[in-house]
Amino acid sequence: MSSYDVVIAGAGHGGAQVAIALRQAGFPGSVALIGDEPELPYERPPLSKEYLAGDKAFERILIRPERFWRDRDVTMRLGERVNAVDPVAHEVKTHSGATVGYGRLVWATGGSPRRLSCAGHDLVGVHTVRTRADVDRMRSELDRTERAVVIGGGYIGLEAAAVLTKFGKRVVLIEALDRVLARVAGEPLSRFFEAEHRARGVDVRLGTSVDCILGQDRVTGVRLHDGEVVPGDIVVVGIGIVPAVAPLRAAGAEGPDGPPGGVAVDAQGRTSLPDIFAIGDCALHPNRFASGAAVRIESVQNANDQATVVAKTIAGLPASYEAVPWFWSNQYDLKLQTVGLSTGFDDSVVRHDPATRSFSIVYLNNGHVIAIDCVNAVRDYVQGRKLVEAGAIVARSRLADAKVQLSELM
Ligand code: FAD
Repeated sequence: MSSYDVVIAGAGHGGAQVAIALRQAGFPGSVALIGDEPELPYERPPLSKEYLAGDKAFERILIRPERFWRDRDVTMRLGERVNAVDPVAHEVKTHSGATVGYGRLVWATGGSPRRLSCAGHDLVGVHTVRTRADVDRMRSELDRTERAVVIGGGYIGLEAAAVLTKFGKRVVLIEALDRVLARVAGEPLSRFFEAEHRARGVDVRLGTSVDCILGQDRVTGVRLHDGEVVPGDIVVVGIGIVPAVAPLRAAGAEGPDGPPGGVAVDAQGRTSLPDIFAIGDCALHPNRFASGAAVRIESVQNANDQATVVAKTIAGLPASYEAVPWFWSNQYDLKLQTVGLSTGFDDSVVRHDPATRSFSIVYLNNGHVIAIDCVNAVRDYVQGRKLVEAGAIVARSRLADAKVQLSELM
């Protein structure tokens, strides 16, 4: 049986960063990353952007080259899935039957794409966008694709719709709620992106739900609840993820049974089980930018910063997760940058005219700036970050005045 001082389950953004930060902190012990994908850790955001578009080769999205891991003596156990945890024996079991001992275990498994439960959900030609393999599979079908149906108007669905449109495909986007990005942004941003997609020919259907996916050998379309059939040569499903925490929950780690799911951790990333930490998309953590409430955040920033906190904690250095959340999305020539968490805002202010395609939306709660969405507005993003970090109280009229720089408002 092999054994390591630190075993990291999941070789994605968070898992890779734990190993990097452990070595940066001078941690001398043995470190192993166990990941179920066959590839070295790679960046996931390009999967629905440059990699899907064919603008970036896979080698360019690797988080670090192979020699980096070798030089730092990080053992890569790829294509191996952890399916059981024994917190008493300090061991994990992998799907191949191997037992691996650990001093500390970091659970960094992200999540699996939420799947539709309706008939036809598993037909050939129905795609999700979570892994390189998912995107390679989709790309291999694009030559024979004229029409695509995208289910889900969140970031991933919108980004996929933008790339498919760029490829000249006819895209129908189906969203169950009455606006796109409804769970993550205010109405002005939703309407802006909706209009941008429509202007490029995407047929955006709001308040629309799917009855079933049609097809025999492979997908031919989607039947909506009102009976309409939307033809499609491929279907892309982007309706969120389910945190991949089953083995850890089965071992006794605390976490909610219902949404938002995940495993509960404290400000150092510790789960309720001794010597077991969790980070990234699957970690339900107290976040000061959500007024201390426990949240799960699906972003590179969150995975990386939590990873660094856990690595420092393991290395015996003081650390606590307090980083300001930030996120980005690229669609067409639009770069959206978000700082803070807008959930729970009670007021919002639009700066600059969205018609110029360069504007921002400042979200307030009880007078405090809690988040800013910036579209092609890097200056607002950089300057507004300080307002969010400080939870600044600023008069609406000053925020709305585009002649006033956000840096003047601190
Ligand atoms: P992941 O990076 O998903 O890594 C988890 C790894 O663990 C995966 O390789 C998984 O296969 C593996 N695994 C799961 N279970 C097991 C197991 N039992 N044993 C071993 N291995 C296991 N964020 C942004 O901030 N900006 C963006 O623009 C953006 N765009 C995105 C676009 C796409 C298409 C996707 C999918 C995500 C995007 N995200 C973006 C989100 C971001 O990529 C995630 O938040 C981030 O990858 C989370 O890191 P993680 O380490 O928690 O999980």
